[in-house]
Amino acid sequence: MELIVQKFGGTSLSDEQSRRHVLRHIIREHEAGRSLVVVVSAMGRSGDPYATDSLLELIRGNGNAIPSRERDLLLSCGELISASVLCSLLNAEGIPAVSLTGGQAGIVTDDRFGSARIMEIKTDRMLKHLSDGRVVIVTGFQGMTTDGEMTTLGRGGSDTSATALGAALNANIVDIYTDVDGILTADPRWVSDARPLSAVSYEEICNMAQNGAKVIHPRAVEIAMKAGIPVRVRSTFSDSEGTLVTHARELRSQGIWFDKTVTGLAHVRSVTQLAVINHNGPADLQLRIFRAMASHGISVDFINVMPTGVHYTVSENDTPNAVQLLQGLGFEPKIRKGCAKVSVIGGGMNGEPGVMAVIVEALTNTGIPILQSADSNTTIWVLISEENLAEALQALHKAFGLHLTPDKT
Ligand code: ADP
Ligand code: ASP
Ligand code: MG
Repeated sequence: MELIVQKFGGTSLSDEQSRRHVLRHIIREHEAGRSLVVVVSAMGRSGDPYATDSLLELIRGNGNAIPSRERDLLLSCGELISASVLCSLLNAEGIPAVSLTGGQAGIVTDDRFGSARIMEIKTDRMLKHLSDGRVVIVTGFQGMTTDGEMTTLGRGGSDTSATALGAALNANIVDIYTDVDGILTADPRWVSDARPLSAVSYEEICNMAQNGAKVIHPRAVEIAMKAGIPVRVRSTFSDSEGTLVTHARELRSQGIWFDKTVTGLAHVRSVTQLAVINHNGPADLQLRIFRAMASHGISVDFINVMPTGVHYTVSENDTPNAVQLLQGLGFEPKIRKGCAKVSVIGGGMNGEPGVMAVIVEALTNTGIPILQSADSNTTIWVLISEENLAEALQALHKAFGLHLTPDKT
């Protein structure tokens, strides 16, 4: 029998009308005779009563004086509410269903509260319910340690729950339902003519997700890729096919994908550029800087090391600490806050001449200075001022014809 994992994100569950759409997708697959595991996120987004951000708001005034164990207990409530409400809706429709917490579903994690890793999934309990004909609803974003402590997997972690369950149950497909029509050529909140892609490889979407495309969590893609489970990202609110994510070789053999030079754009905001110029400074300047950042848990990015000094970026949150550390080492860093990192991503970029030229031309023509750049064989990154972000994304999107390129072979 076919087994499908469906995951519904917060906006898909936020109100009664949205939940009716969720029901429609579940009922369709159930009536087609497929076994179903349904993973749910907390309802709504920031400001909605049971959203994860709203739960965090409840403790904000306490100076975050909450042990990470208790914080995870609080955060796990949002998904619990979604699962129980969905279960009652299914029962009201006469569909047998059961809701399980991450722990009850057999998701065993380590004890890194707030960013726990899944160690193992014991599937017996889910399989028993499935063989009894029930739809199994599982709370996303959470698991349980071997000591019975509730853990959460990090923000956006319901996607990870879904693909990890898909891998453990050897599902035919994992359907990630969200509020857009699939994976688009850019974030539609920034580029209004961004288009849905019919298919992308695991590598490309992993790259997009790691570079800020929030539509799916990068760890979720890594798990699916390792297990070879296909994923489809699609809209809860329409019947469009969405975007199929699988191995590039699989897509090529089905004739539904070709190595595009540029597949899409992604971006990260609130980045600070730090520059330390080496005026006959110590020979081990680079080593001292990066050792200090590492030993204080500051994640660095966009690193350019030159004989004349070092340029790199840190997140806005880490900026005060990073600057203090540099000053403590006796350096006077140049600090440029309010930057954004734009990524131009394409599996077929390797060896294609002229991609950087298109980027430079598009940004120069719109008067946007490039503050730093770097490249790999599937991505070119540029650092720009955040105030230019919308214009830069739109110019690059157009320059690569992403608003027009036919997506199918
Ligand atoms: P969910 O609650 O369903 O998990 P998220 O807010 O986490 O939803 O992710 C969906 C959002 O991701 C979309 O509303 C969209 O604004 C954003 N997004 C960013 N980049 C992309 C992209 N390339 N394609 C589609 N959506 C994107
Ligand atoms: N509710 C969690 C969050 O907001 C998990 C998720 O939505 O994937 O981060
Ligand atoms: Mg999400």
